[in-house]
Amino acid sequence: MAESRLLTCSRCGRTASGLTKPPLAGDIGKLVFEHVCETCWGEWFEQSINVINHQGLNPALPEDRKQLYDVMKEFFDI
Ligand SMILES: [Zn+2]
Repeated sequence: MAESRLLTCSRCGRTASGLTKPPLAGDIGKLVFEHVCETCWGEWFEQSINVINHQGLNPALPEDRKQLYDVMKEFFDI
């Protein structure tokens, strides 16, 4: 079993386990991987469903995805 990787989370400020791999492709995935703990990623995952529904976003579209990622970066303070 792989050891968990600890980081100081940019959102909650705790030293906590990071994700096992970048959750998204590209630079944004790297940012999240390096700065966000597992717990906060889980919270965003739930929150993102609300954002998608309330803003009527289609994550399959690059423009909508960018908008979602902007909200995500604010959420995580990254
Ligand atoms: Zn956190």
